[in-house]
Amino acid sequence: MRALRKTAVLLRAVRLLQEEVVPRVPEVQQERDEDEAPRHMQDVLDEFEKTQKLFVRVKPLQEGVRVLEKVAPGVFFLRGWEAFDNISSNCFFLKNKGSLLLIDCGNLSEQTAKELNAAIKELKGAVKAVYCTHGHYDHVGGIKALPSKTPVFLSEKDFYLIHGEGKARFKPLKKKIVFGSFALSVLPTPGHTPGSVCFWEARKKILFSGDTLFAAGAFGRTDFEGGDQRAMERSLKTLGGLGWRVLLPGHDDVERA
Ligand SMILES: [Zn+2]
Repeated sequence: MRALRKTAVLLRAVRLLQEEVVPRVPEVQQERDEDEAPRHMQDVLDEFEKTQKLFVRVKPLQEGVRVLEKVAPGVFFLRGWEAFDNISSNCFFLKNKGSLLLIDCGNLSEQTAKELNAAIKELKGAVKAVYCTHGHYDHVGGIKALPSKTPVFLSEKDFYLIHGEGKARFKPLKKKIVFGSFALSVLPTPGHTPGSVCFWEARKKILFSGDTLFAAGAFGRTDFEGGDQRAMERSLKTLGGLGWRVLLPGHDDVERA
């Protein structure tokens, strides 16, 4: 009975994506275009370049940083935040004994650096590699808080979004990531940026969806530089067919089907 109910919920989630979310893309985009408030991503990126120079590596941890939440076996969630004019993505740690793999690493603020270091300490591990869902500053800036030898992977199509001295650290993503009991497929899901990807653990049914798909059927903006509404529609259709049980997006809440 329980299993049946779960299947029903899952099917509802897939149907919601395919029948309700995808057709809404043009309409939501229209509303966003009319919204006077959004800053162009280029402004944010310019700011990124400036602040990168101001970044000072923080000393070990202060108290009061937020705790990690375990969202699946071996998967830990460090919630992102939004403050003043700054935004930092959700970060996810995969843990395999003393090794950690980090999916998205937030922005380059001291706050993010503190939180990342606190999380690493709490998990008693060392970050082996960072995998980024796309190249926006609020998902990649946190690499500054990690040792410079830690490899950082990003779709080559988003390399153009990276500026400044950190650029040399980025390596192109491959199609598969194997780490402990995790085997993640790298799914290209352009739309939010040309190089946006989702990481899909097919056996565990866990989807790291970046800024492509959010909880409750919300989806990423396509009005930034490099955004593509038609591509977003295609990407959402692909994700709708996966049947994920745990959705781990780049911002806000996580979702369980
Ligand atoms: Zn983004």
